[in-house]
Amino acid sequence: MSEIIFGPVNSRRFGKSLGIDLSPALKQCNFDCVYCELKGAKPIKEMQEIVSVDEVISALKIALKKHSDIDVITITANGEPTLYPYLDELVDEINKIKGDHKLLILSNGANIVDQNVQKSLAKIDIVKLSLDCVSQKCFKKIDRAYNDIDIEKIIKSMRSFRKTYKGSLVIEVLVVEGINDKDEEFEKLNLVLNEINPNRVDISTIDRPPAYRVKRVSMERLKELSLKIKNLHVSLAYRKEYQGKKENFREDEILNLISKRPQSQQDIELGFDDESKTRFEKLLKKDLIHKEEIAGSLFYTR
Ligand code: SF4
Repeated sequence: MSEIIFGPVNSRRFGKSLGIDLSPALKQCNFDCVYCELKGAKPIKEMQEIVSVDEVISALKIALKKHSDIDVITITANGEPTLYPYLDELVDEINKIKGDHKLLILSNGANIVDQNVQKSLAKIDIVKLSLDCVSQKCFKKIDRAYNDIDIEKIIKSMRSFRKTYKGSLVIEVLVVEGINDKDEEFEKLNLVLNEINPNRVDISTIDRPPAYRVKRVSMERLKELSLKIKNLHVSLAYRKEYQGKKENFREDEILNLISKRPQSQQDIELGFDDESKTRFEKLLKKDLIHKEEIAGSLFYTR
């Protein structure tokens, strides 16, 4: 059996993270996403193999003694962590021992329709939910969910959860070539995301070998699509080897760009040439641009 606790791993988006795997022995998920890094498996409604809360907490206590320098404790699973039947109790127990570390959950978002799950998520500092498509046809094709899962209900529940949730809500969109990479899907996604109003939107594409024969989109296309998401803090997952075109911006252009949409640290590092970076630093010193940290990622706003 694999370990319940893993890491710490350095995640660019959330900082140094100590992971909790609630399904260490096998994949247990209510989705069977085409892009999954695990082997494809029939989606399930309930977890069959369940680790006890005591087991998780004992392992976590030991790991926390060894790794006091982490930023977040991440609840995740080989599958979907909200299928864990004792999630509420587990969250309460982690909150008692987590100290200054933040608690994060990585969920596919489907169980947000369940009020009990919403109650547990409300006690977590950072909630990351996935939303790859907003139309049922596209959702079915990419996430291949357990049969009665409906994307409209999920979106409605995300909206209502956001209204009461006090922590940082992050929505992740993973783009697959030929499925959710159309302009129209992203235009619809933009409307829905603006209604939900998450603190951050993470946009990425396939990075590791997927469960099914699907392809990633190019970095250029991902960037184009990300620009369709307006007014929100968007974090684009740049590939390590990405050497995009570095642009030259005047001061007024930098201010205009940041007014339209907050820029992430990486947007500046990878998209600005040296002269523009110097101008950007000047504006920062003059306090015309402000730094903001959203769930572990740095952004610049006006
Ligand atoms: S939700 Fe996550 S674990 Fe489940 S199938 Fe999709 S990618 Fe895999």
